[in-house]
Amino acid sequence: MPHGCNGVVIEMYDVVVIGGGPGGLAAGIYAAMEGASTVILDRKKEIGRPVRCAEGTFFEVISDLNLSKKWVVNTMNEAIVYLPKDKKISVKTSLEGMSIDRVVFEKELAMKAIKYGAELMLNKNVIRINGGDVILADGSKLRAKIVIIADGVESKIARYVGVRTKLRPEDLGVCAQYTMVDVDVGRHTAEFYLRNDIVPRGYAWVFSRGDEANVGVITLGSVRRRAIEILKDFVEKRCPGARAVRFTAGCVPLSLPINRYVVKNFMLVGDAARFSNAAGGGGIHTALLSGKIAGEIAGKVANRNLDMSALEEYRTIWRKYHRRLIRNYYLKQKATTGRDEDIIRLFRKLSPGIVLLKLGPLSRLFLKWWWG
Ligand SMILES: Cc1cc2nc3c(=O)[nH]c(=O)nc-3n(C[C@H](O)[C@H](O)[C@H](O)COP(=O)(O)OP(=O)(O)OC[C@H]3O[C@@H](n4cnc5c(N)ncnc54)[C@H](O)[C@@H]3O)c2cc1C
Repeated sequence: MPHGCNGVVIEMYDVVVIGGGPGGLAAGIYAAMEGASTVILDRKKEIGRPVRCAEGTFFEVISDLNLSKKWVVNTMNEAIVYLPKDKKISVKTSLEGMSIDRVVFEKELAMKAIKYGAELMLNKNVIRINGGDVILADGSKLRAKIVIIADGVESKIARYVGVRTKLRPEDLGVCAQYTMVDVDVGRHTAEFYLRNDIVPRGYAWVFSRGDEANVGVITLGSVRRRAIEILKDFVEKRCPGARAVRFTAGCVPLSLPINRYVVKNFMLVGDAARFSNAAGGGGIHTALLSGKIAGEIAGKVANRNLDMSALEEYRTIWRKYHRRLIRNYYLKQKATTGRDEDIIRLFRKLSPGIVLLKLGPLSRLFLKWWWG
């Protein structure tokens, strides 16, 4: 509902979500489902594009939404991990990882949000937060009972509520990736190369997408060599005859998760809260999960006019995931020393978990325990 104030029209909402990636879209859907008037803002002109992702994820956290799954491009049930000293681990599981089409996926999430009554505003760049107002680059202002900050790895908005989101170079994953055809890889296989001679302080991946594959690398921001150079060398060795049909590059947080993810009436989700898995760089799953939890609570609190202290429920629920993210951060610290022997030592320690993954249906239980 618009309100006038010193000549500037201010739109009023229960919940304003800044960012329309997986985290923001999930937050918007679940806030709207609770009956809260909700708007999702994104500076992009089109949901999902450009794709900055290897589009690999392992299981759905939002299965209650009955999504169409038309965005599942391929399933992966074999992981091959190449380690230093020519060691190799191959794990076939009943657990299906997925190669997805993020544009189709995010568009379906956006449609769901709209279906549940949320507004989606594209081409809306939030430049700052001033008290309770969300200020856009076009001069307009929105006011909300609750603001969910979901502006991703480059998050700048949180600093307006006093949260430091600056990442140290050694806690930033820098990625480069080609989508390629003519890559010789098993149809349902994901390959990982954890070798410093291939990617210093990082790893390379090949994710089958059926007729094509995503071939990429992730290294730390503190490494001097550029990710694109590392990728070109990897492609030259791994699949010299393959042809690229798409290139993408971007960053992921590989830091500790942010502790202050609820500040007064502001909540942080996804990469903005540094909730990605530092041990691998994946953040779709945790963005969806944190978005869902935060959105549900925000919607409930706003719609029922509860005291803002009720937002603390987000902390209560997220605590167990938070602990796992911290654990994953220390795994990443051990794996990125640049010494091959540390990688091998780490995998020896992880081997009971890997054996568990090989045990068919038990692998589902293992991941359910890990991620809830
Ligand atoms: C090359 C690469 C490969 C990756 N591969 C994988 C993978 O295979 N699997 C996986 O799980 N994860 C992967 N990730 C990580 C994953 O993409 C992120 O963790 C995930 O997108 C986080 O979701 P999010 O909603 O928190 O943020 P984002 O998806 O980054 O969404 C943030 C949104 O906020 C918008 N925004 C930002 N600032 C503003 C502003 N000021 N005003 C308005 N809107 C704003 C942006 O336009 C964007 O749409 C990869 C990342 C990269 C870079």
